[in-house]
Amino acid sequence: MLSVSMDVPDAKNVNQWIGVDRGQNHLSVASLPDGRAKFWTFGNIRQIRRKYQKQRKSLQKQKKLKTLKRLESKERRTITHVNHIISKELVQLAVDCNCGIRLEDLSNIRKTSKQRKKTKSDAAQNRDFWCYYQLENFIFYKAKLAGIPVEKVPAPYTSKSCCKCGAIGSRNKHHFACKRCDSKYHADWGASQNIGKWLGLNCSLVLEKDTSVMDVSVQESGAHGTPLN
Ligand SMILES: [Zn+2]
Repeated sequence: MLSVSMDVPDAKNVNQWIGVDRGQNHLSVASLPDGRAKFWTFGNIRQIRRKYQKQRKSLQKQKKLKTLKRLESKERRTITHVNHIISKELVQLAVDCNCGIRLEDLSNIRKTSKQRKKTKSDAAQNRDFWCYYQLENFIFYKAKLAGIPVEKVPAPYTSKSCCKCGAIGSRNKHHFACKRCDSKYHADWGASQNIGKWLGLNCSLVLEKDTSVMDVSVQESGAHGTPLN
């Protein structure tokens, strides 16, 4: 096995962050604190994936498994290539603007997408997540080599709250509208602004029954005099 060692610089101290949103309409949007944004549309990336999907289905029907495997690895190579380009450009943008990179926490995307796309097959979902995970990994290692800090932000409502006033607005495809401050903008851009400006203060609106929280309360009552068991 070949082992390669290289010097990795310490992550810089940065005051500002580029927020990255991996929306449904675009593969990725990165926006700067001053509002400027870079969209990676790759125009036809969705068409490419749809084309592969169609071919996969017909190959499955015809039970041409070898050709199916070849097609799948071709699709992976295409996506890997695209992910390399996006991550490289994003890290370069961060270097040029002296910003860190903030990404939305992936575990959260997984959950909400699951709820949203119940009809989607497991295989299709796995392909989507594989694509996201790979992009995230590329961003992490390229940023590390460039000394750019990367943070993951738990942001369940980044695409639902207004990036200008914080109110919950309405989203219709890629249009976002806020009734409170009358803002209208591209929803993915707004989400990336929210991610970049995250202060660690937003609280989740979803209250979940959390066993670890319940355990704490049991322990606390124990500490206050009630013996545990
Ligand atoms: Zn607003």
